[in-house]
Amino acid sequence: MKLRKVSAAAAAALVLSLTATACGGDDGDNDSGSGSGTGGGETIKIGIKYDQPGLGLKEPGGKFSGFDVDVATYVAKELGYEPDQIEFVETKSADRENALARGDVKFIAATYSITDERKQKVDFAGPYLLAHQDLLIKTDSDITKGTDLNGKKLCSVTGSTSAQNVQKEIAPKAQLQEYSSYSECIANLQSGAVDAVTTDDSILAGFAAQEQYKGQFKLAGLKLSNENYGIGVKKGDTATVDKINAALEKMVADKAWDKAVADNFGPANYQNEAAPKIGVIVS
Ligand code: GLU
Repeated sequence: MKLRKVSAAAAAALVLSLTATACGGDDGDNDSGSGSGTGGGETIKIGIKYDQPGLGLKEPGGKFSGFDVDVATYVAKELGYEPDQIEFVETKSADRENALARGDVKFIAATYSITDERKQKVDFAGPYLLAHQDLLIKTDSDITKGTDLNGKKLCSVTGSTSAQNVQKEIAPKAQLQEYSSYSECIANLQSGAVDAVTTDDSILAGFAAQEQYKGQFKLAGLKLSNENYGIGVKKGDTATVDKINAALEKMVADKAWDKAVADNFGPANYQNEAAPKIGVIVS
């Protein structure tokens, strides 16, 4: 079963990351995000999600897949790093700003919405995808709109815009349960411990299309927000922002962006929005 495999992979990744922490990283200069990018055997550390099928997934065999992974790989190449020079690091929703501030990673491509609040702490390149907050519910659920969630048990992830929006706007009286990753929420939806999971439709579509969930869940299709995905970099690193923006523009122009969309969203039948214009946020 895929969920078990994802969980096992996440557990293995945790062991790996603990080991890496215990060893103190590879250069100990508190800016271990990258080498020089000259292709001389140096590596670049990139933050992604490990448990979001279609976006950022560490597969059971250790391979990484998803739209964010493809975008990150393309961008890294433009920065001078071949795929075998990339070291992917798990950056959960609540850890992203700190991971950048500490210099754990050079950049983050992890369903990371550009927001004014986050821009106080990190800089963003992009946007490179426009998604929308939605609900994932059981196929036989009678929830049809955001306010139906008031009084219901709802799962989302700590440090996400999705959790914030529920409390501020969508359904302040929902019984919000926050976990550290969406795969935990999906397990709770399947068991009936919660009535709905909320986050970006891009993420929910990826889970719903997983073999073990086929026919069990549906997206409500509500477009509750605009989520402009950006690539996060350390605050003040404008040189990297400029390079990443140039890479993203090239990725759209040479159609690699379309290929990444088809490869990763096609299986989930996720109807994505057209490629956003760099620097233009849809509010
Ligand atoms: N895009 C939203 C965010 O950045 C939700 C997905 C996530 O938690 O990564 O908060």
